[in-house]
Amino acid sequence: MRFKVPRGTQDLLPTETWKWQCVEEIVRDVCDVYRYKEIRTPIFEQTELFQRTVGDTTDIVQKEMYTFTDRGNRSLTLRPEGTAPVVRSFVENKMFGYPDQPVKLYYTGPMFRYERQQAGRYRQFVQFGVEAIGSNDPAIDAEVIALAMDVYKRAGLSKLKLVINSLGDTECRNAHKTALIEHFEPSIDEFCSDCKTRLEKNPLRILDCKVDSEHPLIASAPSLAHYLNEESTAYFEAVQNYLGDAGIDYEVDANLVRGLDYYNHTAFEIMSTSDGFGAITTLCGGGRYNGLAEEIGGPSAPGIGFAMSIERLLLAMEAEGVSFEEEPSLDVYVIALGDDAKRVGAKLLHTLRTNGIRADMDYTNRKMKAQMKSADRLKANYVAIIGDEEVADDVVMLRSMRDREQEKISTNEVVQKILEKGKED
Ligand code: ATP
Ligand code: MG
Repeated sequence: MRFKVPRGTQDLLPTETWKWQCVEEIVRDVCDVYRYKEIRTPIFEQTELFQRTVGDTTDIVQKEMYTFTDRGNRSLTLRPEGTAPVVRSFVENKMFGYPDQPVKLYYTGPMFRYERQQAGRYRQFVQFGVEAIGSNDPAIDAEVIALAMDVYKRAGLSKLKLVINSLGDTECRNAHKTALIEHFEPSIDEFCSDCKTRLEKNPLRILDCKVDSEHPLIASAPSLAHYLNEESTAYFEAVQNYLGDAGIDYEVDANLVRGLDYYNHTAFEIMSTSDGFGAITTLCGGGRYNGLAEEIGGPSAPGIGFAMSIERLLLAMEAEGVSFEEEPSLDVYVIALGDDAKRVGAKLLHTLRTNGIRADMDYTNRKMKAQMKSADRLKANYVAIIGDEEVADDVVMLRSMRDREQEKISTNEVVQKILEKGKED
């Protein structure tokens, strides 16, 4: 029996994890600058949390959740997204009582969706997201968008398109909903079975349907833009002004509706416009969710956030040919020849490491030549060679791999020497 990674998942090997660490560091730095703090919630939650928040009519809830019953007969679901868990935690931990509002949080971690695997679409993927909960100031909408754009810029991406829209408030949504039902009802038989259920429950979802996207009635559907009331229009304008002031380019797309039910007012997506990017170009999606905390039993706490997957960020970096910072090289490779030398070498290795010096040695008893080759492959700056003669004199032969110069120095001076050389570089 041979085993493989489950479909839609992947192993990240050391050459890849290095890139992930680079990107994760950018994420942490940007969040620090914007004063967002990390939150970590469990990988699974009560199934009902997602049903109520993400929405019964969404693809995520209907087709994509990994739901299971535990031994205590509870229905649990591997989280398909991060917003609902964060808002659950916000309510449960009474963060609405914190003196500084909004509470600004970020997370990175695996999400799970049973989807068809393709480039940029996995069943386990890692999302980085932020949530600012407890304010309905349009300036925070612009801040959240600016943060997402900054992450991409810091990662070296320049071929980006930001698209924004307003979904309005409940009043506009209801007026628009009535218009959509009138528009689709006479011909609803021409649509897929999901859309038939969506018609009454949430006709906005029909516009986002992947099966019926080419149906002419989708293009001619009444636009939400015409149903925005005065307050929603003013809010949307304010967001745009703040974005403009920050020098952030954007396009307004009245057809942008997001895949989750809980959004209102601001919705946005960031796309890659780079060639060599496949069918999927959306890197990031987000929006405002003013009723979400109440929906799950909390007080009114308007919020806004976004999520992006690290997988798609890395694909975009690859498409734009962004090069990664080089992995840190090895400071010292210890070459010990013979049993006595091995003991001295192992001890030196330990001392180097406890002084914060990156060091390694051979553990397969290879010849000098093979060990030198290893030192080259590992891009060691120095090799410390110890043979019987060196053991007898309590010295090591320290060779610089850059200029190939070497000198014998006393064993207990090696650390000092390496630290000094490190400073000179
Ligand atoms: P899509 O339209 O591509 O299915 P979505 O609307 O389902 O995206 P969201 O739920 O808003 O996506 O998630 C936000 C971001 O998470 C996406 O923009 C994308 O970067 C990423 N993402 C979503 N699903 C996947 C997946 N299966 N694999 C990798 N990344 C994903
Ligand atoms: Mg999706």
